[in-house]
Amino acid sequence: MAYKTSVYLRAKHQLDERRRAGEALFQQRHSEVLAACPALAALERQLAATGAEVVKIAARGENASALIAKLSQENLALQKQRAALLRQAGYPEDYLENVYTCPVCHDTGTHGSYYCGCYLDLIRETAKQAIPASAMLKKCTFESFDLSFYSDEVDPALGISHRRLMTNVVAFLKDYCVDFSHDSKGLLMLGKTGLGKTHLSLAVVNRLIDRGFNVYYGTAQNILERLQKLQFSRGATDDELNDDLYESDLLVIDDLGTEMVTAFTVSALYNLLNTRLGNGLPTVLSTNLELSELERTYSQRFTSRLMGSCDVIAFYGRDVRQQKLQRG
Ligand SMILES: [Zn+2]
Repeated sequence: MAYKTSVYLRAKHQLDERRRAGEALFQQRHSEVLAACPALAALERQLAATGAEVVKIAARGENASALIAKLSQENLALQKQRAALLRQAGYPEDYLENVYTCPVCHDTGTHGSYYCGCYLDLIRETAKQAIPASAMLKKCTFESFDLSFYSDEVDPALGISHRRLMTNVVAFLKDYCVDFSHDSKGLLMLGKTGLGKTHLSLAVVNRLIDRGFNVYYGTAQNILERLQKLQFSRGATDDELNDDLYESDLLVIDDLGTEMVTAFTVSALYNLLNTRLGNGLPTVLSTNLELSELERTYSQRFTSRLMGSCDVIAFYGRDVRQQKLQRG
């Protein structure tokens, strides 16, 4: 359970950029403030000297707690004087301190011997940005899923209302994320367009990335295009593609059935699903097609492999996108 190497590298790079920007801003503000109040230079020399003195005493291992306490007090008094000087010159007291994105670690990414929370957030954020639908990913969470678009009248054919049914689906998927491991089954989401399959797939992606899993999401069309490109560049290898499709902890293939179906795509999909199953890795698929159409389009072999390895979730309701347009 870990993100792709490229995610860590990108996050580290971004952290370094933040730190450099913070340092540059500090230098710029520092020169500006020194020009406006030259008395600050002497004060800073005194501050540095008391700080150095404390370090020296501590390094000698002397039991000089009284002396250290005295120096610390001096240091505190000098800091107050500095704040007063800045205030008099018309600057905020923390003008030289709030230059970093993270006030805790000053954009170093570590805090004591631990990673700082800001760095862990940045890594998660970078993992989400690496997904092609990252803008949509941000919006599509369990929290933003609106059950009011589903009728609370009992559907006679089902004996339950669509809202109750979708409430159960959301609860099931939340549990799926909590319990997720390589032993989890895959999911097959069935239902017409606009019933929330993409939204809830992305909600799962969000949760699992937050939990530290390497998850890849793409439409069937995106994924097959990548596979096709590799097929045409004979002998070439694509580590990124391998990480995303064959080794990710979870692969989500959205909108199966909207891509152009050829003999290549049918066999590529089967091989992809089969390889992941062989590696003990689950896959989530969503489609507007009915099971019989799925069989006709991708073969019975593919469909039965899918049914054998996935829990099936059926979506019901009225097209949410249409309803949103009507609500304006
Ligand atoms: Zn931090």
